[in-house]
Amino acid sequence: MKKNNMKKFIIMLFVLLSIVVTVLVSSYMIFNELEKQLQQNLEDVANQNSLALHNKIHSQHLLLDSLSENLHGVTPETIEEALQSFTIFLEEYDLKRFAYVFLDGTSYSTDGGVANLSYREFFQRGINGKATITGMLNDALEESHGHVNVMTIPIYDNSGKVEGVFGLTYHSQTFNDTLQIECFDGNGYNCVFNSDGQIMVAMGSETLQLSENIFSDILGADPRNAGTIEKLKNQVEEKAAGGGTFYLAEENYYYCMPVNLMNGDVTWYVLTIIPADFLKSRVVPIQKNLYLMAFIVCALILIGVSLIVMISKERQKMMMRYAYEDPLTKGANYAKFCFDMNKKSGRQGYMVAMDITHFNNINIVAGKSAGDIMIRDIWKILTDLLVGEEFAGHVREDLFIMFLKPDEKDRFLERLSQISMCVNRRAKELSVNGIHCRYGIYDMQGTEDLEDAYSKAQIAREQARIQKKPYYVFYNEMDHAKLQQDQQLEERFEEALAAEEFEVWYQPKYSADSAEIVGSEALVRWRDRDGSMISPGRFIPLLEQNGMIAKLDEYMFRSVCRQQSQWLAKGYTIFPVSINLSRASLYYADIVEKYKNIMNENGVNPNFIQLEVTESTIEGKSDILRLLEKFRSMGIRILMDDFGTGYSSLATLNMRCFDTLKLDKSLIDHIGDENGDTLLYYVISMGQHLGLHITAEGVENRMQLEFLQKNHCDDIQGFLFARPMPTDQFEKILTER
Ligand code: C2E
Ligand code: MG
Ligand code: MG
Repeated sequence: MKKNNMKKFIIMLFVLLSIVVTVLVSSYMIFNELEKQLQQNLEDVANQNSLALHNKIHSQHLLLDSLSENLHGVTPETIEEALQSFTIFLEEYDLKRFAYVFLDGTSYSTDGGVANLSYREFFQRGINGKATITGMLNDALEESHGHVNVMTIPIYDNSGKVEGVFGLTYHSQTFNDTLQIECFDGNGYNCVFNSDGQIMVAMGSETLQLSENIFSDILGADPRNAGTIEKLKNQVEEKAAGGGTFYLAEENYYYCMPVNLMNGDVTWYVLTIIPADFLKSRVVPIQKNLYLMAFIVCALILIGVSLIVMISKERQKMMMRYAYEDPLTKGANYAKFCFDMNKKSGRQGYMVAMDITHFNNINIVAGKSAGDIMIRDIWKILTDLLVGEEFAGHVREDLFIMFLKPDEKDRFLERLSQISMCVNRRAKELSVNGIHCRYGIYDMQGTEDLEDAYSKAQIAREQARIQKKPYYVFYNEMDHAKLQQDQQLEERFEEALAAEEFEVWYQPKYSADSAEIVGSEALVRWRDRDGSMISPGRFIPLLEQNGMIAKLDEYMFRSVCRQQSQWLAKGYTIFPVSINLSRASLYYADIVEKYKNIMNENGVNPNFIQLEVTESTIEGKSDILRLLEKFRSMGIRILMDDFGTGYSSLATLNMRCFDTLKLDKSLIDHIGDENGDTLLYYVISMGQHLGLHITAEGVENRMQLEFLQKNHCDDIQGFLFARPMPTDQFEKILTER
């Protein structure tokens, strides 16, 4: 996973976890809060229950008290009568009987039973001056021995001594029923137990039985209650209130409250119980809502984040397209090429910078859109050639970059020539000549910096452009010493120009028929400080590349004008001198004005100045054609130099922007071959047919001269007659004629 995605993923996870934790914590807090409330409720309910219990028992205690007024001083003889008067209360209070027990234990009751109850605890407590309310007892006064509860109080004589024990008896069930109190809308239940743990009243639950003991029978059944039993026993001992949980099959909350009865003689404990499920039944819907909400929030966040991720991915794709897609080929651009290269682990292979010579010809001949189509076709040719981990990119215009796998040099060059062939074929389909692929190659060892390798491939490509053959240059095999010298030459140029290290040499031109001199070509020579001569072939291409050639051309033009005017002043017969004008000079629109001024300054007639331009300089460039036209309108003749090199086309002849056609030495060299002769024959006759003056360059032998004479070539320039020579030598030719 990418670093950025990892970061997003962690943030997402953190957000979702936070939500889950928040939900869990709040759910826990809600539960706690509800639990607290429930316990508070339990306490309140237990309080109310104990109060209710207290009141109910107290009312019966009061009844006993008030009836006991009539029992002072009773004897076994009078007791029955006294008791009979109480029977009316039996029904009203839902009692079983009243009974009176004398100190000897003999009891008399409203239902006529007499028995000895001296063994009963309530009797013992009674004679000890304590009121009592018992748990469930077997009825001693009835044969069926039904279950009863008994409430007794001591009866005092006038001296304050206990003289008997008076009590009332309930049916246990009735007793229990009268004390029922509902709690928590029937969801909770209560019981009352005494200090021994015996259940005195069981309310609202079928599981609690009167005969049972809360500690041993109810809570003791589950070992998890040991702590609770302990706690409850402590409460009983301290007569304290308190709550907690215990298990009766399920978990329950309880609150235990002591109740003082019978004026403090008896303490019972009200135990109010509510199943934990009841709390859960209240919490669960809240929790469910909370979970649902959290789920919705999480889902929304997930959807939101997914949407954002989708949008940002889409945007990223678009950005990638902008950054890495070449608008013309729709394929990789240079940035994408670098991106792919940087991703690549081993970079051993050939970095190839490729461009197309005279690509502009396609735009000129076939139109801009054909040029665009050609770029796309070239791109397709390149990408079809790529295999495996090879990349290519369209840098700009006709410049492409490729990374090709390491291979044997021959096989690798074979692949390049395959590209060249396809590109040539395509150009020919568009009827455009002069289209050649040039390759600058850097043999990468895999450790070099990418930009460094790229610029080396570019340097090699520049070199491949300058040289005619071969069509490729390996940077690694380049003559770096020469490159360095080139650089020094370039750097020294301005200084040399100022120091007048450049000389004008003249090469005379002769009439083919009469062998009379008819003119000359001014050729530059660079005499270095040490006196050695640097040939134009060495420095002209360099100056053409950096544009400084324009300065040199102007220097030559000025020198020739000055020389012509000097020769004129000396009274010599002068002939037209042609000066080479390179393409870069014609980039300056003010050149016509400038050259005109130079001529005027020197008082030179334009008929004695000619300009030589090459075919590639003028090809299809309407602004350059306009400049040439301006020169011509001033009377300066334009010579088409080097006709027949590379990609010359007969269509050029018909451009009508020049006066003289200079046949290149390469055409002259083919005189003698059948094809060469035929071609030259057609070129000369066509040129003449179009009214052009024809000059042959590089004529070195008589056979060539004769052929040219036979075919009516006008002028001859070549070593056969004269080589380029310094001014003083040429001056001799002028004077010795
Ligand atoms: P170019 O303008 O075509 O000049 C003719 C070249 O052919 C000259 O070479 C000349 O010495 C050579 N040449 C003439 N006759 C013969 C022959 O019979 N046999 C052989 N082998 N060579 C012959 P150069 O002087 O070395 O000049 C080379 C090129 O440099 C010129 O070709 C021209 O394009 C350029 N150049 C020379 N001087 C200047 C200049 O002042 N300005 C510009 N822009 N270019 C110049
Ligand atoms: Mg020339
Ligand atoms: Mg030439």
